[in-house]
Amino acid sequence: MDRERPVTTPQITTTGSPKPGMTLPRMIHRVRTSGFVMGFAIFTTHMLGKDYSLLVWGLLLLQFFVYPHLLHWRTRRAANPMQAELGNFLIDAGTMGLWSAGLGYPLWITFAVLTCNVVSITLYGGSRSALQAIAIFFLGGLLWVALTGQPINLHTDWPATVLCTVGLTIFLLMASNTAFHRNRKLQEIRAALRDSEQALHRANDALQQQLREIHVLQGQLHEQANRDPLTGLYNRRYLDSTLERELARCQREGQPLSLVLIDIDHFKLINDTYGHLAGDEVLKQLADMLSAQARSADVVCRFGGEEFLLLLPNMSQTTALARAEQWRQRFAASTIAFGEFRMQATLSLGLASYPGHGTSAQALIRCADHALYRAKTEGRNRVIVADLVAPLPDPTPET
Ligand code: GH3
Ligand code: MG
Ligand code: MG
Repeated sequence: MDRERPVTTPQITTTGSPKPGMTLPRMIHRVRTSGFVMGFAIFTTHMLGKDYSLLVWGLLLLQFFVYPHLLHWRTRRAANPMQAELGNFLIDAGTMGLWSAGLGYPLWITFAVLTCNVVSITLYGGSRSALQAIAIFFLGGLLWVALTGQPINLHTDWPATVLCTVGLTIFLLMASNTAFHRNRKLQEIRAALRDSEQALHRANDALQQQLREIHVLQGQLHEQANRDPLTGLYNRRYLDSTLERELARCQREGQPLSLVLIDIDHFKLINDTYGHLAGDEVLKQLADMLSAQARSADVVCRFGGEEFLLLLPNMSQTTALARAEQWRQRFAASTIAFGEFRMQATLSLGLASYPGHGTSAQALIRCADHALYRAKTEGRNRVIVADLVAPLPDPTPET
């Protein structure tokens, strides 16, 4: 069973182009193994004909053919394989430093193995790791020289020199190729990131646009929910939510507030005489007139069928009475045209004001309704102010 842990490092090899599906430690192992075969050839060429013991040859075989697999085994068991690989490069530096020292630092061999080691570790660990590798390479070796009295002999025979230059050249070409592919991969990643960022910006813009549209639609929905479709006035639902608030505000600010409830007189007769559409036209004309006369703070509502309610914040009973009378006269004097019909109608109006007629929305509406009822019973086409002397009590809250 392969216990090799996958690494999150990009899949880049030391031999050139990335090979999909192959982990980085396995790639490094492959390169190290083949590099060590080359190293064995170089060392053997240099050592042949010299008086080295069987032990040294045995160690050489272990170093170049067993040791790379031991390192790979170590990596496979490591929690962080890339960290382990960096450690492996440092172990390479130590062992190669010892071998170079053991041979007396033959210049070309020393240069070749050190360069390969330093370039490899730089590729994966940067220059700081490279400096560590150089230090380990020479510290171990020089210690060996000091302890054993190993003579220094920089000379490298020409066959080993040729192998060194060939091996080094191949290695450097492969390392450059790796760097090239890494760079290209990086550029591809950057370009992909840029594309994703732009796509994200576009998606964000589209989202913002959708949010704006939703906002507008919400506004329209809200408006529709609060408006009467025939007259365009606010509906009862809106009044319910507004009256309490306006009343509370007027109470806080010590301001009066008036309510005028309006009902068209004998409206059923208009419908019956001229038709329902003509009746609709009367409703619209009245709505237009009331809206045109209203202040910006006033709330003009269609309260029910042919009933309208005006909420007049900060308006005293006296002023409201004068305005209600004005509306009554103006409407009574107007002629409403619908097709060939010319219609006239009158209004009955009931007025109630805060604080005289109550301190709650329900009490005020009941007072205005009561006043309207009186306007009807007293002959219609008139404004009646709710009874100030005996205002209706506030209703007890429903349980
Ligand atoms: P009163 O003077 O006592 O108020 O008499 P009225 O005929 O105005 O009152 P009534 O309540 O008997 O009739 C109201 C009529 O209003 C009945 C109903 O068909 C009509 N109506 C309600 N809503 C609409 C509407 O949207 N359009 C039209 N054309 N008529 C409506
Ligand atoms: Mg009515
Ligand atoms: Mg009516």
